[in-house]
Amino acid sequence: MIIAIDGPSGAGKSTVAKLLSKVLDFEYIDTGAMYRALAYKAYINNIEIDENKIDKMLEMTTIDYYDNKIYLDNQNVESLIRSEIISKGSSKISALKNVRIKMVALQRNIAKNKNVILDGRDIGTKVFPDADFKFFITASVETRAKRRYEQLKLSGTDVDFNDVLLSIKKRDESDSTRKISPLEMADDAILIDTSNMEINEVVKTIANLIGGKNVL
Ligand code: C5P
Repeated sequence: MIIAIDGPSGAGKSTVAKLLSKVLDFEYIDTGAMYRALAYKAYINNIEIDENKIDKMLEMTTIDYYDNKIYLDNQNVESLIRSEIISKGSSKISALKNVRIKMVALQRNIAKNKNVILDGRDIGTKVFPDADFKFFITASVETRAKRRYEQLKLSGTDVDFNDVLLSIKKRDESDSTRKISPLEMADDAILIDTSNMEINEVVKTIANLIGGKNVL
């Protein structure tokens, strides 16, 4: 069974997806982490995010995802990919054709023959258009920026709220307007606006919707 959770940055997708995966005993795949790991490699090696240069980098790169952790060239980079600079880079790198081809193939392969929850931008539209359940989780841009800001602060990162807000707005813009697989809600997805909801409420809502179809 495949559960697709898409939506813009900071809407709470990954927190919800992780909790749900525990409730349902499903595997969780954080597809954003894959694009972030590639952006991280480009960043630390000073590789410009340009089609030719990234195509070359891709040939010499392996990305793996297991036990809820992302591996870049066999190294666990989970704790290195959440900064603002990598967020920006991931949005840029994810617009490249060959990057998407490689990451989508990887996502389909990992999810094969498993019960999986994936979160991302194009899971319900492109990666698994036949997913059993599709949810589109969103929230106002201010709420999302506030959540991201608090998350970054909590992890000890010194950030300015307005910078986070601007960065989320920019990522929204580039994720929704890129040519390949832009962020959009699948026609058959269920929309959940989490602006005024606690995380547990979101998890319960989704679990009930799934349970209503005799999954739980
Ligand atoms: O979800 P997260 O914020 O970690 O994703 C980082 C970036 O990766 C997003 O801004 C988006 O550009 C890209 N992404 C994507 N497709 C996905 C998941 C993430 O393009 N399925």
